[in-house]
Amino acid sequence: MHIGFLGLGAIGTPMAAHLARRGPLTVWNRTAARAAEFVARHGGAAAASPREAAAGDVVITCLSTSADVAGLLDGPDGILAGIRPGALFLDCTSGDPAASRRIAARLDERGVAFADAPVSGGTNGAEAGTLTVMVGGSAETFARARPVLSAFGERIEHVGPVGAGDALKAVNNALLAVNILAVGEGLAALVKAGVAPRTALGVVNASSGRSFVSEVLVPERVLTGAWPRTFRLALLDKDVAIATDLLTETGVPGPVLELARSLLHAARARLDEAADYLDPIRLTERQAGVEIRG
Ligand code: NDP
Repeated sequence: MHIGFLGLGAIGTPMAAHLARRGPLTVWNRTAARAAEFVARHGGAAAASPREAAAGDVVITCLSTSADVAGLLDGPDGILAGIRPGALFLDCTSGDPAASRRIAARLDERGVAFADAPVSGGTNGAEAGTLTVMVGGSAETFARARPVLSAFGERIEHVGPVGAGDALKAVNNALLAVNILAVGEGLAALVKAGVAPRTALGVVNASSGRSFVSEVLVPERVLTGAWPRTFRLALLDKDVAIATDLLTETGVPGPVLELARSLLHAARARLDEAADYLDPIRLTERQAGVEIRG
């Protein structure tokens, strides 16, 4: 089975590396140097265009947004010019459900099956091949997608029709965002109140306030002062916007997620485009005049 992978970003690269170890792979990236670097390191072939990358049995995209995916479909060098009927298109972008449905309809006209298949587990999970993949599509498409996704996914769930994977991923990340903002505020206050951050987290993590943020992210990245850049704040901001749009569309009042959306938006305006998703905690630290370390 020949796979084409488009989008060698922070998470796309380790996902594609697993596929390169399994079988024939062609990669394409907007910045061509990244594709050349990938081939030198992991093997496979670099395509000169999305059209060329899309000529195999399976096409996988992992771009920033659904709009970026839609932007690669058309034109003489676009995906639609290269993809063949009967192929399978898996979009691992954390996308927008409505946009995925539109992309699926365009592919359906060409006899191509589509599933949105966003992932969770971060760049570490991608490297380890332990991502969670939430798949939106028909049962038949899911059955075809699962063995492909198992190259980098450990938990691969069929969560509903096209768009359902995107919706679930957006809500998951909205919950993550709320946790990041709240844990940063709470810990800053506790440090100022004289509680050592490690002590505070030890107790929270043995109690009902614990979360992935308090158990893993803050101890590994904030307390240590490491602040690695693995997931851009701009992308989390995009995810929360998709979640709040979902709430609006479904008629669910969402003041908490709306607040998270505007706080992330404000943080993004104060930081650069490469800022990491945990950087809002740094802004809280600065505003509070305190550092959460230990
Ligand atoms: P990056 O910003 O590291 O990479 C984005 C990728 O998309 C690059 O390959 C970039 O190409 C490409 N791209 C962006 N815009 C366009 C465009 N208009 N046309 C063609 N290519 C484009 O993002 P990540 O790899 O971190 O994220 C990719 C997706 O995965 C996002 O939807 C993100 O939300 C999701 N995700 C990320 C996680 C993470 O931990 N990083 C975790 C889970 C999901 P170029 O190299 O030329 O810029």
